[in-house]
Amino acid sequence: MAKMAKIILRKNKTDAVKRFHPWIFSGAIKAIADEVEEGDWVEVYSETGEYLATGFYNSSNIAVKVLSFQPVPDLQALLLHKLQAAYDLRQRLGFLRHPEQLTNCYRLVNAEGDGLPGLIIDWYDGVAVMQCYAIALYQQREWLTDCLRKLYGDQLIAVYDKSAAVLPKSVPSENQYLWGQAEPRQVLEYGQRFFVDWETGQKTGFFLDQRENRALLGRYVQDQRVLNTFCYSGGFSVFAVQAGASLVHSVDSSSRAIEWTHQNIALNSPTPNLPSTNQHEAFTEDVFDFLKRSQPQDYDVIVLDPPAFAKSLSARHSAMMAYKRLNRMAFEKVRSNGLIFTFSCSQVVGPDNFKGAVTAGAIEAGRSVQVLATMTQPADHPVSLYHPEGLYLKGLILRVLDA
Ligand code: SAH
Repeated sequence: MAKMAKIILRKNKTDAVKRFHPWIFSGAIKAIADEVEEGDWVEVYSETGEYLATGFYNSSNIAVKVLSFQPVPDLQALLLHKLQAAYDLRQRLGFLRHPEQLTNCYRLVNAEGDGLPGLIIDWYDGVAVMQCYAIALYQQREWLTDCLRKLYGDQLIAVYDKSAAVLPKSVPSENQYLWGQAEPRQVLEYGQRFFVDWETGQKTGFFLDQRENRALLGRYVQDQRVLNTFCYSGGFSVFAVQAGASLVHSVDSSSRAIEWTHQNIALNSPTPNLPSTNQHEAFTEDVFDFLKRSQPQDYDVIVLDPPAFAKSLSARHSAMMAYKRLNRMAFEKVRSNGLIFTFSCSQVVGPDNFKGAVTAGAIEAGRSVQVLATMTQPADHPVSLYHPEGLYLKGLILRVLDA
C-alpha cells in the first residue's frame, strides 16, 4: 500500500498509546513528518523513532484513531481480519445459528470495541447497514462490502451504506445500497417481531443495544401498568405487552416512531382484537410534557430511555441537569413500590455521573430508592478494556418507595 505519513508524539505523551488506548489527541503530537489530510492513514512513532501504532488522521481534537498497534503491511487484509474477528464473536454469541433463530438482528461491528474505530455495522437478518464516521473508512466502503460478502456468502441480501448521516458535512456522500437491494424487513429479537426501516429510521433503524434490557423488563411487568418513554419503535413496549403488563403507554415526540410502535405491537399480537393490543396506547408527545400532565400513581413501572442528551464534553453539565430533571419527574410520578428503568446513552456522561444525576433527581423528589440492578450494553456491543469510553449505555433498575 501507499506509504503512510508519519506522526511523531511528544516525549511524555506516549503512555496512552502504549496502553493500547485507540485515541491520540492533537496535543500529544509533536510533529507530522509528511503532508497529511483528513482521512489519511498514518503511522505513529515516538520521538526516538519507535513504532507505536497505525490509524487514520482527523483534523480534530482526536487527531488519530488507531486500528493497529503492530505495523500494517496491508490495510485491506487488516480490515478483513478485523471483520472476521467481529463475525467470529457474533457466531460465538449464538447469533449465526441457522435457519431458526430467536434473534436475527445484532451489531456486527461496534467501532473501538471491535478494534475498528469509526465503523458501525448492524445486521438485520441478511441486510448489513453500515455507518462510517470517518472518511478513511468511508473510502474503504467497497472493500468492506467485499469482506461482508466473503463472510456471509449467500446469506447476505444487501449492504446499505448510511454514512451520509454521520460523516463530516464536508464529505460528499449519499446513503445508498453498495450491494443488493432490500425492502424494510421484519426481524426477530428474542422471538418478538420488529419492523425495521434502516433507510428512514433513526441510527441504523433499530436500537439493538437495548435487547437484553428489553427482555429484562419483561421479567418485572406482569400485571403492571407500564409507561415507556422515548419509545422509538416500541422495543420495550412490545416486551412489556408480551410479558402480560396490564397496560402499556408508549410516548415519543416523533409521529413516525409512534407509527412504528403501533405496527410492532400489532405484529406481535396473535389477533388484532385480543386484549394484548387493547393493553397498549401510544402518544406523540414530548416526554417532559407527558410526565408533567400524568398523575402520581398512574404507573407501576416507568422506562426512561432518552436520546444522548450530551454529544460532547462541553454539553455534559446541561445533559446531567436534563437527566436529573427527567428522573425527578419519574420519581414523582411512579407509584410507591414501583420501578424505574432509567438509561443514559451519552458517551460523555460516565456511569458515576449518571448515577449522580439520578440520585439528585431522587433527592429532589423525596423518594427512597433501592438499586435492584445495573444494566449496560450487550456483548455484541463489546467494549475494549483499554477504551472505557466505549461503554456508553448505562442503566439502573430502581425500586421506589415513599421516603
Ligand atoms: N427506547 C427506544 C430507543 C429510544 S431512542 C428503543 O428501545 O428502541 C430515543 C427516542 O426519543 C427517539 O425515538 C426520539 O424520537 C425520542 N425523543 C427525543 N426527544 C424526545 C422528547 N423530548 N420527547 C419525546 N420523545 C423524544
